[in-house]
Amino acid sequence: MKILISNDDGYQAPGLVALYEALKEFAEVEVIAPEQNNSAKSNALTLHTPLYVTRASNGFRYVNGTPADCVHIALTGLLGYRPDLVVSGINNGANMGDDTIYSGTVGAAMEGYLFGIPALAFSQVDKNWVEIESAAHKARELVLQMSSQQLIGATPWLLNVNIPNLPFAEIGHVKLCRLGRRHAAEPVITQMSPRGETMYWIGAAGAVKDEAEGTDFYATSKGFVSMTPLKVDLTDHDNLGYWAQTASRLASAPVQAATSSLV
Ligand code: MN
Repeated sequence: MKILISNDDGYQAPGLVALYEALKEFAEVEVIAPEQNNSAKSNALTLHTPLYVTRASNGFRYVNGTPADCVHIALTGLLGYRPDLVVSGINNGANMGDDTIYSGTVGAAMEGYLFGIPALAFSQVDKNWVEIESAAHKARELVLQMSSQQLIGATPWLLNVNIPNLPFAEIGHVKLCRLGRRHAAEPVITQMSPRGETMYWIGAAGAVKDEAEGTDFYATSKGFVSMTPLKVDLTDHDNLGYWAQTASRLASAPVQAATSSLV
């Protein structure tokens, strides 16, 4: 089995190293990862500056780009072959609920999926690398199980997996979950720069809003590994009927200047 590994925390991140060590025991593994931390880069591609690939002393290759850049250039020329699986992570912190929209960890995996390759995004729930070896062992176990169940190869799929920071023996089994939801993000943080300009810092992610049973938030809070199949089609299929009616109303609606309710 040939596996391409990437991540969004950068090629030196402990989660990436642990994942590589765990998967290389049974697969041909190559690592192509960002040079710098690229959290929250989603599927961004670098189109206006050149990308350079450098080989580190441990054999990993790093790119001055995003997670999706790494997987994209790997699959479109750099590797020279088609891997059987793309694995991203293990991320420093959870990627659950709305996080998956922003996540560079998911973005790297999604890029593999967009090229028709099965892809796994792994994240550890807490952001401190505690029990990262256990998480890597769990990831190894899951990939081996999927391999023996003939899940790797034929049909592409995209799975988002979150692993609680627990000793290996205490990590629960894999639970199939839907994504939970978060509240809107915290307010932007403003500071004054030394030159007297206002600086804006993106605020923290919102608190959890939907952590009901069946969600990734719920499963990991109980010590289980959450696994959510993701798709790329963002169409709101449930509401297509409503929008079809609305669109036909709009098609014949007159265009009038908006009137202010304050007037
Ligand atoms: Mn990250």
